[in-house]
Amino acid sequence: METDSQYAIFFLDLDGFKQVNDNFGHRVGDEVLTEVVKRIKQACQHDEIICRWGGDEFIIMAHQSPLYRFEDLAIALKKHINQAIITTQHVIHMDCSIGIAMYPEHGQSISDLISLADLSMYSRKSGGTDDYVMFSGELEQKIKHEMHLSKGIAQAIAEQQLRLVFQPIIDSTTGDIASVEALLRWEFEGNNIPPDVFIPLAEKNGAIKQIGYWVLEESVRHLSALHLLKPQLAICINVSMIQFEDVDFVSKAEQIINQYHVNPSKVHLEITESVFSQDKLKLIDMVKALQLLGFMISIDDFGTGYSSLSVIQDLHVNTVKIDRSFINNLHLHGIDIVKAVMVMSHGLGYRVVAEGVENQQQANTLTALGIHYLQGYLFDKPLEFDALTQKLSRHPDEQRSPFLLRSANS
Ligand code: C2E
Ligand code: CA
Ligand code: CA
Repeated sequence: METDSQYAIFFLDLDGFKQVNDNFGHRVGDEVLTEVVKRIKQACQHDEIICRWGGDEFIIMAHQSPLYRFEDLAIALKKHINQAIITTQHVIHMDCSIGIAMYPEHGQSISDLISLADLSMYSRKSGGTDDYVMFSGELEQKIKHEMHLSKGIAQAIAEQQLRLVFQPIIDSTTGDIASVEALLRWEFEGNNIPPDVFIPLAEKNGAIKQIGYWVLEESVRHLSALHLLKPQLAICINVSMIQFEDVDFVSKAEQIINQYHVNPSKVHLEITESVFSQDKLKLIDMVKALQLLGFMISIDDFGTGYSSLSVIQDLHVNTVKIDRSFINNLHLHGIDIVKAVMVMSHGLGYRVVAEGVENQQQANTLTALGIHYLQGYLFDKPLEFDALTQKLSRHPDEQRSPFLLRSANS
């Protein structure tokens, strides 16, 4: 941090504080906050001004000298907050994200400096691993680009820039295409923006709600057409946790399947484990209501989020999709996870999909372990609708995957 600036605003936000409140209750949350304030005071050994900005957000105005640099303060804050917090009944480990904006380089007014420090902090939260993030020209460009995309995605439906592609999911015992996963594509200003980039932006600005209905309706509409070729085919649709904030989600989903005369048992809604780290009860109620209507529920990216075995049991989820990071790692620890998920599947009665199957060896290992379904580039990349219909128009024998050992005999 080479700088002549003498003043800076630090924006400090606790990571995962909401989970503390959700899991242990507000009283424990208050104890943690009180302790965090003590720690911040301990870290601030000079003439810093400390304020509480919001629930778990703090602002520190710091002054640096040749002997005491902003970096030292950032590291001290992290170090103090990282030490275990012992409340009356629990031992809790907290971490924080810190963004820094300096006067006068980055902004002239206190409010500008606070928002820039906040933006810097936020950029650390979305993926960074550094102890702190200092505002910079590069970061400014990145933020502007994100804001541009964020505005763009909010208009994408109206501008007809969205389309779905479909990735087949193969039944490991027959080699047949059992279902297809609908995956969203966005073409914006001549570029294909990856969903990993635009979905989080659409979740942040709320556009995902409208986009989610578009995806649901388009998927179901396409499925009704595909059923003319293959009546047993199911479609898997990704549902973002933000979509569940809409109290009408369940009734709108029902309306869509009625409109296209599609059996909801052919519609698999893929939700991630992180769904259940939020307002659990309300979400579980909504998922149960969807199940009552006949929709199938899949847990997506299993193994990457919070452990939700009780939820899997409670909801009787229909399918668990093992995240591709484990399939990638089959030769290391991945295989243990796959085995464990398979063992539990017998007791809990769900079906298992392996995601991201890229080579024959993985397919062989997974099939030998009894995995029910396989999805990945080995079989098909996500296909345009026309390519999918061409494939499904072929004779059933020709549709079957040649990559499964068992398919030859079935
Ligand atoms: P996901 O739900 O885990 O979807 C699977 C992703 O893995 C897809 O990426 C797919 O193209 C990719 N994939 C499939 N097989 C392989 C393989 O063998 N190797 C590798 N390396 N990758 C494989 P995609 O289409 O880029 O989508 C990324 C993520 O974006 C999805 O991950 C999902 O979380 C999200 N997403 C996509 N469409 C939607 C949507 O309509 N709604 C919501 N909420 N999220 C979506
Ligand atoms: Ca998925
Ligand atoms: Ca997945």
